[in-house]
Amino acid sequence: MMKKILLILIAALAVGLFFHFDLHQLLTLDGLKGSMDQFSQWREQSPVLVIGVFFIMYVLVTALSLPGAAILTLAAGALFGLLEGLVIVSFASSIGATLAFLVSRYLLRDTIQKRFPERLTAIDAGVAKEGAFYLFTLRLVPVFPFFLINLLMGVTAIKSWTFYWVSQIGMLAGTFVFVNAGTQLAQIDSLSGILSFNLIVSFALLGFFPLIAKAILNVFKKKRVYKNYTKPKKFDRNMVVIGAGAGGLVTSYIAAAVKAKVTLIEAGEMGGDCLNYGCVPSKAIIKSAKIAEQIRHGEHYGLENSTPQFSFKKVMARVHKVIADVAPHDSVERYTNLGVEVIKGYGKLIDPWTVEIKLNDGSKQTLTARTIVIATGARPFVPPLPGIEETGYVTSDTLWTKFAELDEAPKKLVVLGGGPIGCELAQSFARLGSSVTQIEMAERIMIKEDLEVSTFAHESLTESGVNILTSHQALRCETRDDKKYIVVKQQLDGKTQEVAIEYDELLCAVGRSARLKGYGLEELGIETNRTILTNEYLETLYPNIYAAGDIVGPYQFTHVAAHQGWYAAVNGLFGHLKKFKVDYRVIPWTTFIDPEVARVGLNEQDAIDKGIDFEITRFEFEELDRAITDSATKGFIKVITPKGKDKILGVTVVSEHAGDLIAEFVLAMKHGLGLNKILGTIHSYPTWAEGNKYAAGEWKRNHAPETVLNLLEKYHTWRRG
Ligand SMILES: Cc1cc2nc3c(=O)[nH]c(=O)nc-3n(C[C@H](O)[C@H](O)[C@H](O)COP(=O)(O)OP(=O)(O)OC[C@H]3O[C@@H](n4cnc5c(N)ncnc54)[C@H](O)[C@@H]3O)c2cc1C
Repeated sequence: MMKKILLILIAALAVGLFFHFDLHQLLTLDGLKGSMDQFSQWREQSPVLVIGVFFIMYVLVTALSLPGAAILTLAAGALFGLLEGLVIVSFASSIGATLAFLVSRYLLRDTIQKRFPERLTAIDAGVAKEGAFYLFTLRLVPVFPFFLINLLMGVTAIKSWTFYWVSQIGMLAGTFVFVNAGTQLAQIDSLSGILSFNLIVSFALLGFFPLIAKAILNVFKKKRVYKNYTKPKKFDRNMVVIGAGAGGLVTSYIAAAVKAKVTLIEAGEMGGDCLNYGCVPSKAIIKSAKIAEQIRHGEHYGLENSTPQFSFKKVMARVHKVIADVAPHDSVERYTNLGVEVIKGYGKLIDPWTVEIKLNDGSKQTLTARTIVIATGARPFVPPLPGIEETGYVTSDTLWTKFAELDEAPKKLVVLGGGPIGCELAQSFARLGSSVTQIEMAERIMIKEDLEVSTFAHESLTESGVNILTSHQALRCETRDDKKYIVVKQQLDGKTQEVAIEYDELLCAVGRSARLKGYGLEELGIETNRTILTNEYLETLYPNIYAAGDIVGPYQFTHVAAHQGWYAAVNGLFGHLKKFKVDYRVIPWTTFIDPEVARVGLNEQDAIDKGIDFEITRFEFEELDRAITDSATKGFIKVITPKGKDKILGVTVVSEHAGDLIAEFVLAMKHGLGLNKILGTIHSYPTWAEGNKYAAGEWKRNHAPETVLNLLEKYHTWRRG
């Protein structure tokens, strides 16, 4: 801070001296003309010294953003001639501009970053991609003030070296015009005369040239990817969607709603992973497990000798009934009624407009479409551990069927993975009677949450009976004496130790990988890494082929797949008129362990990592009447706001119903509402949602206007007489 203040003082002093010695008078057209004879004399006597002093003066004027750079440029032409003047000014102006840029970065960037973190991140992302282009344009068009560009670019993340060389090249043409004019100084009557309207327009065209050229190149690049294919003259459909999970269902529904002819192709079950293997069965088993746990701890509610009596088979039967009950929402019948043609079969891309469908009866059908949307989702990733195939395992895809016939939950269950899916299932099976060991390679479970939240989750799972082994890496699976073991490696006091953990069933929940193979992506050369690569509009390498859902990421949630589905449908059908960038700014998610963990925006760790000047407002559920009546007081709300500002940057809720409570904060963030607005909203008593209001009240209390309250106290004292 002291260094910054010193820099500001030095800059202020330099500016003060500049005006004190009336240098600004000298840096006018008349001042320059009046002093030219004297300058020329000095130049004759000591050319090197004059060049040196001129150079330093030019650098200082530009570095301090003082008025007069244009006059100095004319002076360079008058004093040194066109070529020498051009070289001197080109370097001096670029160095001065870079110094101004660095000063701005040093003094302003941190403050602006703290105040407008998201906006600056978005600007930085744009600058990282196209910063040099934009700077070049700004430099070429002389109507954009030189000093303002230096200061503004300093706030962005553009590299100093890039700023320097782009500035030097970009300013060259303008510098040439001014230095050249300076060689004819006597004929110049005003500065504005130097840049005629035509010249400004020419510069503007020059400035926009790189952007126009880039746009033209993009058009060619887009066209080039199609060069080996013949576009059909007519299409069978406006849109073909591959995959009927959340992403594909929403895409096809929107397309049908706007009267497009759309076909949805599904190789497996309608509803995809969420309905059949993911959200729905997992939430169903979580509910049964929670009730078992509540009965087990019936004493909290005044019940005596309560022990849950249940049949695991019936629990699993209920899970399947729940899937069946939800299934009509995603069924062929429903979507057909909504105007979507549904074909059960395996879709494969043949060319950018053609999909071949292998129907379930073995026959094939081919459809052409102007737009194709890939929504093929992800599947559980199984780590390639030696012995794993021989010993066997289940994943979220297979466990629902495999466990359906068990009379009891597996006695010894190992859950590999400490992410949300692993945690939800580990806790549920522990509550349903399994002896669960959960293995996580990282040092804590639910690593995406901050330390406090993942510690809380660790305690909740441990209380439910899960034995959690963090910092343990799975090495191999083996069978000894008919017993199955997973061997894990643990780092303890700098030593590596191997431990063998026995299990009856091994559940792999170490992440989900996008389905990238077998349906034509490779043949068409569609770019992938761990997902399909798209631009912000969800366009793949082929602008008429879009992708949505888990196949794209970056978030693997049903609601995000659905969100992307809207963009894929609208951009796919109307992108030639107007395209929309996917908005990922306010994305909530919930991990349905008990108590639930729900999150939107930044958590504490993110705020620290981003260097934001933030504050945390907390509300503990032990203060909430409804939590007390429900004997469920564990948990908290943690709101992250910029210091002293009523703007929600992120919220984490840990409690019963946290996944529902977060919705109010999601709405607030989405629409730019602060905590004052939540505080000013009536919440019914006694509800869990009141927790949100109390968290807002906590923030208000922490920002009470002390001076006003002191004055009020005095006022009331005076009123009492
Ligand atoms: C255990 C578990 C719990 C989860 N819990 C939650 C939760 O609580 N909340 C949440 O938001 N998310 C949850 N998820 C994640 C959620 O299920 C996914 O994010 C969501 O299903 C993604 O939808 P999608 O449309 O991208 O893909 P999917 O649902 O995977 O659908 C893709 C479909 O494409 C089909 N397909 C693939 N290739 C072809 C082809 N070539 N031709 C035809 N059809 C094809 C597949 O058969 C599949 O039906 C959970 C996931 C799991 C595994």
